[in-house]
Amino acid sequence: MIFETRERHHVANCPKCDTPHRYTELKFPMINDRGSWLVACRKCGQHFVFDLRNPAESYSDDCMIVERFDNDINPYAGNAPRPGASAVYQLDMNPDQPRFDLDAFPIFKCAKSGESLEAAAFLAIGKSWLRVADARAQATNQMLARSRLPPVEHVVFFVEVPCSCGEPHRAIFYHPLRLDGSDLPPVEELLLADVSGTDLADVLTGILSKTDVMHALGKLIARWRLFNDQILLATPFVAHQWKTKAERLAIWETLLAQLDPTRTILMTRGATLKEYRDALLESGLDHVMLSRFGLENRIVGDGKRKQDSHAKVYIGLGETCEVLSGSANVVQGDSMENVTFQALGRNKVETSYLAPLGVSLPEPRPRLSHHLLIECRDGVWRWDLAAGAAPKP
Ligand SMILES: [Zn+2]
Ligand SMILES: [Zn+2]
Repeated sequence: MIFETRERHHVANCPKCDTPHRYTELKFPMINDRGSWLVACRKCGQHFVFDLRNPAESYSDDCMIVERFDNDINPYAGNAPRPGASAVYQLDMNPDQPRFDLDAFPIFKCAKSGESLEAAAFLAIGKSWLRVADARAQATNQMLARSRLPPVEHVVFFVEVPCSCGEPHRAIFYHPLRLDGSDLPPVEELLLADVSGTDLADVLTGILSKTDVMHALGKLIARWRLFNDQILLATPFVAHQWKTKAERLAIWETLLAQLDPTRTILMTRGATLKEYRDALLESGLDHVMLSRFGLENRIVGDGKRKQDSHAKVYIGLGETCEVLSGSANVVQGDSMENVTFQALGRNKVETSYLAPLGVSLPEPRPRLSHHLLIECRDGVWRWDLAAGAAPKP
């Protein structure tokens, strides 16, 4: 659309220490001011200056803006240095777009009947979707109207799921909350985090195909993103059995998109990280060049190298932790793997997993204090600001 405000993403590096600073330049449909920003490097404090459109309206989380200059009113007349390097970018290497793949190996099965409850859960919330959407719209409007809001991380939905066992199951769906007036996502983009009356340890302990283990891991990651503080993936190999670099890159990209870069620790061999960079390079992107501008995938960029380990273990870390471990690397395939799933206390995970692996975890981004809960009580869909970043599973 020609009459739309457009955003252009830039990055400017400090002339002294090369720290990248991202900013978004707005371009309006009709009149655009010209000007510049004088910024202080967020790492070393060096002042530098660059030109941009609409200096008053353009914005940045990275830049400490010392002063905004409009060329028509107060053009910049100082002599601060220009950025050491700069770039315009479109590609997001950290998409952070988790999915719950309903067609993939089911992990939520009725503990009595053994039936998968995943499709039934999506069907149940789909049936009530108009009323759910209504409750969520009311919540959003009232929350926007309040002057003081507690910080809310997720919108969580409780839904009853019918089952042939005769007992009701309760499914927990969620999606990240954005209060920018964005619409409720379509039902199929909700993430299913839990169904009561199921037994993950039973379903995820035994012999499974590599592909099923990887699909289960994808679903566990969606679950852990709601209930846990951090996710640790320790595996010597990712996608290494795939012949072409394009196939390897596809597996990496699927995995990375499922994960939140601010809450994930990847621990693998140096050669495995290099395989990703090589596959990316073949696709036309240079990880090293991207990382100079802070645009690389941060999970790979912060990946911890571990040479002397064959352990394959995937952990949702919190006060209580969930551990999927066994023989499976992050690859898909028909060959069989043994896996075990356990819920363990934090101390046990620290002493039996983290200490032997030699992992020192970065401090996780603090979780927000509330979640928006939408559930059906007495036949009416209601909303509530509930304490805690997530409900108890
Ligand atoms: Zn600097
Ligand atoms: Zn059942």
